[in-house]
Amino acid sequence: MKAVCWHGKNDVRVDTVPDPSILNPRDAILKITSTAICGSDLHLYDGYIPTMQKGDILGHEFMGEVVDKGSEVKNLNKGDRVVIPFTIACGHCFFCNRDLWSLCDNSIPDGKIVEKAYGHTPSALFGYSHMLGGYAGGQAQYVRVPFADTAALKIPEGLTDKQVLFLTDIFPTGYQAAEYCNIQPGDTVAIWGCGPVGQFAIRSAYMLGAQRVIAIDRVPERLAMAREGKAETINYEEIDAGEALKEMTGGIGPDSCIDAVGLEAHGTGLDAFYDKAKQSLRLETDRPTALRQAIVACRKGGTLSIPGVYGGFVDKFPLGALFSKGLTVKTGQTHVHKYLKPLLERIQKGDIDPTFVITHEMSLEEAPQGYEIFKHKRDNCIKIVLNP
Ligand code: NAD
Ligand code: ZN
Repeated sequence: MKAVCWHGKNDVRVDTVPDPSILNPRDAILKITSTAICGSDLHLYDGYIPTMQKGDILGHEFMGEVVDKGSEVKNLNKGDRVVIPFTIACGHCFFCNRDLWSLCDNSIPDGKIVEKAYGHTPSALFGYSHMLGGYAGGQAQYVRVPFADTAALKIPEGLTDKQVLFLTDIFPTGYQAAEYCNIQPGDTVAIWGCGPVGQFAIRSAYMLGAQRVIAIDRVPERLAMAREGKAETINYEEIDAGEALKEMTGGIGPDSCIDAVGLEAHGTGLDAFYDKAKQSLRLETDRPTALRQAIVACRKGGTLSIPGVYGGFVDKFPLGALFSKGLTVKTGQTHVHKYLKPLLERIQKGDIDPTFVITHEMSLEEAPQGYEIFKHKRDNCIKIVLNP
């Protein structure tokens, strides 16, 4: 089959690789019908994750048709059309039982390497390096889905791929980020980053009752899309975001702040970290600008919600301000499994049409150009869907 493979920093290629097959009784094989490129893929493309190996298949946002299944997968049939969460979870451990799916204890076959770096084992992810399980991703024609009986959401007839594809990741991620803010009537939520995750966070904050959402980015098209989602916007290259937020909130600051940026790879000159990253699992950066701004801007007693991905040690973190203001911090990989059904219902009810975020559709063969366009935000790109 054809698959998008990682070959190094800024180097992905469409290779011919062996088809996946059933390895465990709870596996299923999907024929991929749609898959997307995510901001998290850019961390791999930027070379920040040192446990990627040449030839690893990328992609964690995908859906498709069940073409084969293991003997223990009783709730799926060949031909079923399903969406799969980007996190891999067994469905039965201490954490899965508490709806903490992205903290599953059983999905990384060799958790030692992560244990060494972090002192614990998180859940595995599709297409996200050997540190996180080494599972082949879904930017491919076929993929093996472990624990398919627990993972798969069957899609009812009448919904297109594009309407439901983002249930795999960015819709639940934006939604969880907003839910973490415990939004009260009258609240103002500030969101750093108007990429796909930020866009879903804006709409989710309103769905959860925010009175005002203020979105911060530097890319005009992304800010325009944020305004279409009823956000007020700040271009941080034109004005000081911290000052502007203070002014817009009568000096008190937003009730909650969402960092939907994470590792700031783009245009911030972080190339040097690549070499560091290769040497160890520790990423050190003194440039978490968005995160720092969010802590400083948030009102006393407010909430800081961090869906943006960070790795290793992040320095120059204003822990003093965070402590002194009594902020609540919520963060982590999204517990996607938990949101599949409720968010599918919201799509069916018409609360949101997730297709708004798609600016590009391409074939799988065009993925290398897709990564370049998405990384550099060329051609007004916000979200790319690949059709294998
Ligand atoms: P993206 O790269 O398309 O968007 C990031 C946006 O942040 C860009 O528009 C960029 O211009 C903007 N930005 C950069 N520096 C900024 C700053 N200092 N202030 C304000 N904006 C700034 O990525 P995305 O797909 O939207 O993902 C966003 C983040 O969420 C990434 O870190 C991604 O890895 C992470 N993510 C996390 C989860 C999770 O489970 N927690 C899931 C998916 C994605
Ligand atoms: Zn993603």
